[in-house]
Amino acid sequence: MVNAVADIGLIGLAVMGQNLILNMNDNGFVVCAYNRTVSKVDSFLQNEAKGTNVVGAHSIEELCAKLKRPRKVMILVKAGSAVDSFIDQLLPFLEKGDIIIDGGNSHFPDTIRRCAALEKTGVLYVGSGVSGGEEGARTGPSLMPGGNPAAWPAIKPIFQAIAAKAPDGAPCCDWVGESGSGHYVKMVHNGIEYGDMQLICEVYHIMHVGLGLSSDAIADVFEEWNKGELDSYLIEITRDILRFKDTKGKPLVESIRDTAGQKGTGKWTGIDSLDRGIPVTLIGEAVYARCLSALKDERVRASKILSGPPKRKFTGDLKLFLDQLGQALYASKIVSYAQGFMLMRQAASDLNWHMNYAGIALMWRGGCIIRSAFLGKIREAYDNNQKLENLLFDSFFQEATEKAQDAWRSVVSQAVLMGIPTPALSTALNFYDGLRHEMLPANLLQAQRDYFGAHTYELLADPGKHVHTNWTGRG
Ligand code: NAP
Repeated sequence: MVNAVADIGLIGLAVMGQNLILNMNDNGFVVCAYNRTVSKVDSFLQNEAKGTNVVGAHSIEELCAKLKRPRKVMILVKAGSAVDSFIDQLLPFLEKGDIIIDGGNSHFPDTIRRCAALEKTGVLYVGSGVSGGEEGARTGPSLMPGGNPAAWPAIKPIFQAIAAKAPDGAPCCDWVGESGSGHYVKMVHNGIEYGDMQLICEVYHIMHVGLGLSSDAIADVFEEWNKGELDSYLIEITRDILRFKDTKGKPLVESIRDTAGQKGTGKWTGIDSLDRGIPVTLIGEAVYARCLSALKDERVRASKILSGPPKRKFTGDLKLFLDQLGQALYASKIVSYAQGFMLMRQAASDLNWHMNYAGIALMWRGGCIIRSAFLGKIREAYDNNQKLENLLFDSFFQEATEKAQDAWRSVVSQAVLMGIPTPALSTALNFYDGLRHEMLPANLLQAQRDYFGAHTYELLADPGKHVHTNWTGRG
């Protein structure tokens, strides 16, 4: 007879799993560890987990027998078929009310499918976004759990104990919503991360190439920005990266090949936004910017064939321009988050999820890559009005973009004149201008569609009624 000693089981002893186990142990929970390659269990217990309360299992049956009821098993393995395989292996040893949590980077449609399948068994399924990388897993990640709501009371004490804490002490973990919503929110989080990084890279490009500033001087600008409304982890690490010197005393960043990689979660966000018809343009541009960067050889050839504007030394007021640059970055970031929340709202409506938007902002407030002071303001906006239609309609963000817009326009114009690409800064401004136009030229577009395809149009004065015109007078 095996004693049920463990508060939770964890499958997957790669870096994320090991670190989450040690984090849970630090917070007083007894964890039972298991891994497909079983030898890693003993190795973990004898090394990284030596002297802790962590216990191990050499089979799924032993793992389940060692868990207190309701049994809670967290899976942290490579996303995809490995997750399905472990669910299948676990089910014979679980009973109604037990809980399976997938903490990997699963694509949300898989989580929706698994949640629905498990509902029939009585086992409660949770898909949780885990952000913050290996360091976050060890010291406090951002956790975004969603799925069968009946699981939340049982996992809440563990999840909120191990999660990062916002500056006010609130855990960066709350219940997101039903079904695949936790993994959905993690996907959007990753997309927003792409956008934040791209925006920072664009302002770096303007300062480096357009203004001719040194990496140290640019680091000083980021240092200043980090003291104000742009205060965030990504600004902070950018400052540190720019100051880092190689063995010859040169900024290391200047020697790094300019081709960006990607694992696909930004692309998932872009594809999903197209599927739902929500203009998440900034994340889309951020993904495309990585794609363009990857075409290094073609760009090298193009640089010798295609011309830009003549190179001119910046002669304007540098201090003023740097201030405008910070404002343009801030306003663009507001637009990016507004687009991300628009997408989540649409998904919630399409999939009948009840998403906790203020909670989502809080979950991203600490522990994850996009953590920033600014997320506290988003939380306030949704706390003030849970039904907020658009983040840009909240008075704080409406005033912030209005205040920044002159600077934003100057920066985008300057970049265009200098021939420096700013896809994210520009699309943010274009989106802002598009959204605030009661009338867009889609009237002409509808006429064109009706002309060549008899797709019909509606009149402003009579929405809902579709009419067709014979534009050529021919039969
Ligand atoms: P990983 O490299 O993604 O996966 C390794 C783990 O998956 C090992 O335990 C491995 O078992 C198991 N595994 C792989 N293929 C398997 C299969 N076909 N059947 C059964 N088990 C299989 O590990 P990780 O970096 O720790 O990440 C774990 C999860 O967290 C992933 O979904 C990842 O995307 C997500 N995540 C990672 C990070 C990060 O910073 N690394 C951040 C957030 C989320 P064996 O030891 O037997 O090979």
